Amino acid sequence: MCRIFKKYMSALCHQTFLPLRIGPFLACFCLFVSPHIALAGETAVEPSGSGVDMLQDSTDEDDARSSETSAAAEKLVDAVPAHEHDVPLADAVTTAEGLAEPLQLLGSEIAPGSSQRLAWSATELFEGVPVSTPVLVVNGRQPGPILCLTAAVHGDELNGIEMVRRVLHDIDPDKLSGAVIGVPIVNVQGFRRGSRYLPDRRDLNRYFPGNPSGSAAARIAYALFTNVIAHCDALVDLHTGSFERANLPQIRADLRNPDVVTLTLGFGSMVVLHSEPTVGTLRYAATSAGIPAVTVEAGGPSQLELAEVKHGVKGLETLLTTLDMVKKMRLWGDPEPVYYRSSWVRADNGGILLADVSLGSTVRKGDLLGTITDPMSNARSELRSPFSGRIIGMARNQVVMPGFAAFHVGIQADDVEAIEGEQDPADLAQESRTGGYVDGMSE
Ligand SMILES: [Zn+2]
Repeated sequence: MCRIFKKYMSALCHQTFLPLRIGPFLACFCLFVSPHIALAGETAVEPSGSGVDMLQDSTDEDDARSSETSAAAEKLVDAVPAHEHDVPLADAVTTAEGLAEPLQLLGSEIAPGSSQRLAWSATELFEGVPVSTPVLVVNGRQPGPILCLTAAVHGDELNGIEMVRRVLHDIDPDKLSGAVIGVPIVNVQGFRRGSRYLPDRRDLNRYFPGNPSGSAAARIAYALFTNVIAHCDALVDLHTGSFERANLPQIRADLRNPDVVTLTLGFGSMVVLHSEPTVGTLRYAATSAGIPAVTVEAGGPSQLELAEVKHGVKGLETLLTTLDMVKKMRLWGDPEPVYYRSSWVRADNGGILLADVSLGSTVRKGDLLGTITDPMSNARSELRSPFSGRIIGMARNQVVMPGFAAFHVGIQADDVEAIEGEQDPADLAQESRTGGYVDGMSE
């Protein structure tokens, strides 16, 4: 199975992707995803033990009940079909013909060469008072694709809110080809409470594309998806780490989709982590509806981190430039991103976690990542890196329980083959499938 897939991917790489130089990555990636591919057609399942992560990692036991089980029980509608795309995303501007048209969105008409701030009201608060959130729209003077930016699907993830604001307000509609739609605060109820979740403790990012007659989460998801997302030709969903963890700015993308690869290349030299989207995420639902989507992770929750915000804005403005939607707004050095696979290093003992590395650190196999000290017995244990790579996500210093996912080590795609045989292939396949996803965390 894998050999056939490898051959197919190899041919595809040489015909289509060779200029992108990711052929070797896809070939070796095959080695790790084949068990999943063999299961194609079966229902996707969460990684085993994921519920345990949630229990262990949450400081509030109620959070553990939040979404993970209810999402699985709830029937979501099939992805709402988006409009057809006849040309690859990379050629959307150059092949666009005629004049730009007015954009119809949320009951308003945005003329070419203009910007508008609209209000989107997904649902009512539990008190029955409608709550609306802004939708920023810039419709370009010239025709082209519609790029959508969403942030704060998790209400405590603030960096993306500022990224959307900066990017949208920097665009001159007279010089734009296509349109940019920004929803800076998707989960406005969570945002107002400083919480990742909706008021009913559900994780909104497990309910897309939603259901108009389902739970509150499914209804909000459905409203966003049908009213806004279905108008998009491409989507970037902005997130941060969660639960006292921070992420090196990175793109999470399913590199089997050529238009998604176009997006990842567009950001300039930003780290790219291959991950198949989890069912129910906005990225999953959008891609299923034919809208190429990536997630950008940058920093941690509950704070505004200027360096991460600037990094994200630089990537997004580079994307607008490489998609030809704007002329040389920004171009970021080497346009080739760095592809990673990844694995989490977990605590074997409980205690006080103190890190010896920082985000972005390059580590070698066996390097000390951090220590955990039992505050009662003073017993100390060490966490060491299982392979050479880079720290792309990590927990802040805190008290942890055994099993806590502490350090996220990215393994450069070129090096994946080198570590083959050092780890159970099934583990690698699972992590590759999920991009190191730990339930209840991150995207
Ligand atoms: Zn998030």
